[in-house]
Amino acid sequence: MKLIDGKKTAAKIREEIKAEVAQIIDNNDSAPHLAAILVGDDPASDTYVSHKEKDCKSVGIISSVYRLGKHTTEKELLDTIDFINNDEEIHGLIVQLPLPDHIDMNRVISYIDPVKDVDGFHPLNIGKMTIGQSTYLPATPYGIMELLKRYEIDTSGKHCVILGRSNIVGTPMSILLSRKSDPGNATVTMCHSQTKNLKEITRSADIIIAAIGQPEFVTKDMVKKDAVIIDVGIHRIPSDKTKSGFRLIGDVKFDEVAKNASAITPVPGGVGPMTRVALLLNTLKAFKRTRGL
Ligand code: NDP
Repeated sequence: MKLIDGKKTAAKIREEIKAEVAQIIDNNDSAPHLAAILVGDDPASDTYVSHKEKDCKSVGIISSVYRLGKHTTEKELLDTIDFINNDEEIHGLIVQLPLPDHIDMNRVISYIDPVKDVDGFHPLNIGKMTIGQSTYLPATPYGIMELLKRYEIDTSGKHCVILGRSNIVGTPMSILLSRKSDPGNATVTMCHSQTKNLKEITRSADIIIAAIGQPEFVTKDMVKKDAVIIDVGIHRIPSDKTKSGFRLIGDVKFDEVAKNASAITPVPGGVGPMTRVALLLNTLKAFKRTRGL
């Protein structure tokens, strides 16, 4: 069994980005710049945005965070987006989700300038991804595609079962893997809460991508021998064995599934770090587009 090490791979990609950013600055250009908008005081969102700031800093990308109060109106948020859309010094813009209930998320996403939409959530960018045009890929699927590529996991002609159909993971993953590309060219089955005979389907999979948000849902009896397992799930569970009092587990029961798999991502240290680095890749891409590169 091969462990697909997302932490190590992400560290390598960060080094590559850092070198490229250093080269840009050496050429007397300004560094790429990512802006994040955070609305409200959700602690998890606050943590995610802090991680993004730290990640940018680690590779020399400039980051700015616009913190707006939880009573910010939709109009005020759209005005802030408008301001950033028009700032030529800012190359990438993300709005941290979820947004407070009184704000229409879809309207907000559609308001971001597609050329700065480094989350890849704008309908225009989703459309481009779907028809195979160059664009920003949503971070988690992008990170998974990089892992498959760098670990030389052959997806062509393989049966790939994706558990989950969310707009940020399952759906884009199914599109990317079924595209005529490498990685890609897979025969994809996307499963969701209404899927019948789930176990029968997963047992026929050469590759399983688990993104259903159910702790340790995928067990050994659901996996055929030598399948490749990509575990997207992240769940915090109490633990008396760690200093923090909790530990992280995925959507896959790692210990037993790993015995049957030919390759598998761990949690933590698998898809999570790759999701983080994918945002940096998209920000660098956004910068390069403004320079015609
Ligand atoms: P969502 O909750 O948006 O989607 C879950 C999907 O799983 C839905 O399509 C749902 O079906 C399906 N589902 C739920 N229960 C079952 C079941 N019993 N059988 C079959 N299908 C089921 O999740 P996300 O895609 O946002 O996230 C999935 C997991 O990945 C979460 O644990 C999340 O924390 C984690 N995550 C990790 C990231 C990382 O960087 N590692 C990034 C993003 C997410 P239906 O559509 O019918 O409701």
